[in-house]
Amino acid sequence: MTTAATTTRPSSYNDLCAAMHELGTLGSISALVGWDQETYMPPKGTEARSDQSALLAKLMHERATDPKLGEMISVCESDPDLQDPTNAEFANVREMRIDYDKATKLPGDLVSALAKAQSKAQDVWKSARKNNDFKSFVPALTEVMSLTRRKGECLGIPEGGELYDALLNEYEPNATAAQIESIFTPLRGKLSAFIQEVADNGDAPDVSFVHREIPTEKQHGFGMKVIKAFGFDTDRGRLDTTTHPFCSGFAPGDTRLTTRYALTNFPDAIGSTMHECGHGLYEQGLPKETGDFGTPLTQAISLGIHESQSRMWENMVGRSRAFWSWALPIAKEMFSPTMDDVALDPMVRAMNTCTPSFIRVESDEATYNLHVMLRFELERAMISGNLDIKDLPEAWNTKFKDMLGLDVPDDARGCLQDVHWSFGLVGYFPTYTLGNLYAAQMWETINDTITDLDEQMAKGQFGELLAWTRAHIHVHGRRYSAGEIIERATGRALDPEPLMRHLESRVRPAYGL
Ligand code: ZN
Repeated sequence: MTTAATTTRPSSYNDLCAAMHELGTLGSISALVGWDQETYMPPKGTEARSDQSALLAKLMHERATDPKLGEMISVCESDPDLQDPTNAEFANVREMRIDYDKATKLPGDLVSALAKAQSKAQDVWKSARKNNDFKSFVPALTEVMSLTRRKGECLGIPEGGELYDALLNEYEPNATAAQIESIFTPLRGKLSAFIQEVADNGDAPDVSFVHREIPTEKQHGFGMKVIKAFGFDTDRGRLDTTTHPFCSGFAPGDTRLTTRYALTNFPDAIGSTMHECGHGLYEQGLPKETGDFGTPLTQAISLGIHESQSRMWENMVGRSRAFWSWALPIAKEMFSPTMDDVALDPMVRAMNTCTPSFIRVESDEATYNLHVMLRFELERAMISGNLDIKDLPEAWNTKFKDMLGLDVPDDARGCLQDVHWSFGLVGYFPTYTLGNLYAAQMWETINDTITDLDEQMAKGQFGELLAWTRAHIHVHGRRYSAGEIIERATGRALDPEPLMRHLESRVRPAYGL
């Protein structure tokens, strides 16, 4: 495939791809040492590891901003053989230009000031959260936010947009705050009303049996069985244990999944495993093995689309009755005798709870989105200057009561719970709910296309589902924007209704509504 393509490609383009391949390889080394740090590195390796990571980051930055790379991109942009906008090569050069401009727009002093402020703010945040002391975090967070604002200004406000968009585009290219607001606002109202209805009239499922103790090795064995059935290729990837699960698809033929195990909460572990597996299936489906590894068309288009793949396997598949029809007998046998008395009905109900709570990462599939919307509204206000950092707790608590109906007891369980803002990660949160929205919309199309999907899943067959995601999402890399991918795959623009329909279809039966 590679050779046939390269013979007809201009040499300017091949040179550019070779440079990107080296940059991609450096990135894969950096990801590898990062993965090792989170999994197997002994505690005393920290200092040398941070030297290794810093050196790699410096080398990568030098390459990514090298004027020679800029010239190579310019040569391709004016090459008469690369002018057809419908060609993959055209899209690849277009995306390289975007990356190059972004990398060269940020002045070195800003990058290092931000890195310093982030690492300080992270330390301060840790103790502020531990001591429930927001006041002590205000100066550090104020500094990070003001540098983040400067970063947005350097990246440039998209035409007709706002400063927040410049930051959002780092994670979700082409998305705008206004567009997200237009989807989140109707969803927020419906979701809040639905959650209230469930609280008032629902018959809450019994979840006590999911807290029975199951040894970690048995949970790992079950997780491996599930991800192999999903289609994760263990010759091109592996699953290891960590504290904060993640997936790193760093090179052709090498995608690492990590998960965590709680002795008395096996759905939490299998949920994490299926979630990271969804990310891993996307990574394994990107066309990295074409020889153009390192170029944009072999990379994920956005965090939202990445998250749509993880949420689809974790939620649409992993909380469904069809999935558990297949998986429960396997779990019962592997965990025997702990789960011997658990029937399908209670299992499915326990997987689809809906209960407002304070902590985002512990929340259920439905209420999760309200946690995200709250953060989106607050960070947008902080960036635009409409919300003073010192007033964050009050704004948080008021919105929380309004959206989730609970009085926040303290800032540790309120605005201090997430690490993101101390890192200057603004524009990141909405991609979680965008992922849910994309996944729900894809899920409707998939079920219209594969009409016996439930029967297939109940037999442990996921191949046709995976093939759909490969053909409609994975194969494109960054060729199309996230919005274009959704339109091409589902025939329509992003819409909040499919997610609402999906959540109701799962939660209503679980609560006897
Ligand atoms: Zn994820």
